[in-house]
Amino acid sequence: VAVLMMLRFLFARTLSRPMETLMEQIRKIEKGDYSRSKLVNTGDELETISKNMRQLAMTVQERESALQTSQEDLEYLSYHDALTDLPNRRLFRQRLDHAIELSKRNGTKAAVLFLDCDHFKQTNDTLGHNVGDDLLKAVSERLEEGLRKTDTLARIGGDEFTVLIEEVSDIDEVNTVIKKIHDDFKAPFICGEHKISITASIGIALYPDDGSDSMTLIKNADLAMYKSKEKGRNRHTFFSRKLSDFLEERTRQTRALTSAVEKNNEFTLLYQPKVSLHNGKTTAVEALIRWHSPKLGFVPTEHFIALAEETRLIIPVGEWVLKQACSDFVRLSEEGCMLEHISINVSSIQLIHSDMTATLKHVIAATGISANQIELEITESYIAANTQKVMQTLHNIRAMGVNLAIDDFGTGYSSLVNLKQFPLSRLKIDKSFTDGLPDSSEHIAIAKAIIALAKTFDLEITAEGVETAAQAALLKQEQCDEVQGYFYSEPLDVDALLAYCRGSRD
Ligand code: C2E
Ligand code: CA
Ligand code: CA
Repeated sequence: VAVLMMLRFLFARTLSRPMETLMEQIRKIEKGDYSRSKLVNTGDELETISKNMRQLAMTVQERESALQTSQEDLEYLSYHDALTDLPNRRLFRQRLDHAIELSKRNGTKAAVLFLDCDHFKQTNDTLGHNVGDDLLKAVSERLEEGLRKTDTLARIGGDEFTVLIEEVSDIDEVNTVIKKIHDDFKAPFICGEHKISITASIGIALYPDDGSDSMTLIKNADLAMYKSKEKGRNRHTFFSRKLSDFLEERTRQTRALTSAVEKNNEFTLLYQPKVSLHNGKTTAVEALIRWHSPKLGFVPTEHFIALAEETRLIIPVGEWVLKQACSDFVRLSEEGCMLEHISINVSSIQLIHSDMTATLKHVIAATGISANQIELEITESYIAANTQKVMQTLHNIRAMGVNLAIDDFGTGYSSLVNLKQFPLSRLKIDKSFTDGLPDSSEHIAIAKAIIALAKTFDLEITAEGVETAAQAALLKQEQCDEVQGYFYSEPLDVDALLAYCRGSRD
């Protein structure tokens, strides 16, 4: 009996109790409890197994908690915008759905504001994406500061933000927020070394008036925002049924413009004579495009140029203009209408997004015009962006012998001091200043200042939009070099221009 007892004791010590401990470890892990467990301490293989088991449990625990964190991160990311940390479209829609439920219950309204930064693309294109990102962050921070805790601000696209105002009982509450947002945009945004002034266009849709679900409300606020852009940006528009028609119209125009570019027989060029104030002779012409669409009829130039720029169709349109204008110029000289050069308007989109030097080389080779007979008119805002890239492009063009003029000068805030860094040959005083002559003393002062500036930088100066003899006389007295406008001639087609040339020669 004693031997049996001994054997039993030994068996329990060396095998059954350690086995029990091991089983306990296993059961804990099975239950998902990976905390430190009791170890077998028999000093043999069982102890090693037990230790390995504990190690395994700890590793699993670490992995589980890492997984948990990344799952939480993922959850956060799928509801927030990575750049600004604001709620994204998904979270915004969720909050809006919730707000709609709330409004249903207590009979209040909810407002969705759709906000788009004006000309943001220009900043991105000219100053680079990093500055663009900084600008978006700065905008989101300022907007967030200005809103109430109960409002939701979200970033739902590139430069597009939305604001949700809940439990609106009076429309004035919405107007107050809109005013606040416009005020927020008054001071420039600091992005590293850049001080950037931008504005915002806003569209507003209300629940329940303008839609009964979140998708419709956001879509209609977006539509209203488009109207703000069309009316000249930096303003707000409340959604209305008429706006849906407006969007349809825009789509129709874009389609017609695309087809015009493909067919290539709906555009024509007119030429407006430019007259020298030194000798009264017509020395050049400016090419101005016209579009007669079979579907839409005549579309005002400024209107479709803006659409072509937005859709980048201006690149093929611009190439056509360049080629047509240069070949017309060659034909004019062959027919005895001798001009010093032809002025061609170029959009900043063409300069930024297409290879203008290659296009110019191609057109010069194809038409036989010489480079110095081409003058490109570039709007001042492009120069004002003043980046290394802008500068390089202009220098490359100038190096070919092509002349460069700044169009609409006086409207684009370019730093006057910087002007001399650009390889320019001409400034064109914007029509809005010519309009004030000779009566507005302010406009006289501006015209004088621009002329003086041009002379210091050794630039030729042209005044556009001259409509009266009095304007012409004053410009001549102030030593402006060149004029164009209805007083001299409206834009003419090639045949009319040939007749004009012959007439002015006689
Ligand atoms: P812009 O370059 O400032 O052209 C001058 C505009 O003023 C032209 O309008 C011209 O017809 C008009 N104009 C000329 N003299 C007078 C005047 O005495 N009084 C008044 N009230 N207006 C006058 P248009 O042809 O409608 O062109 C509008 C704008 O569209 C142009 O402004 C230019 O920025 C753009 N544009 C025209 N053709 C082209 C083109 O081929 N390419 C590009 N990118 N833009 C173009
Ligand atoms: Ca022009
Ligand atoms: Ca102009």
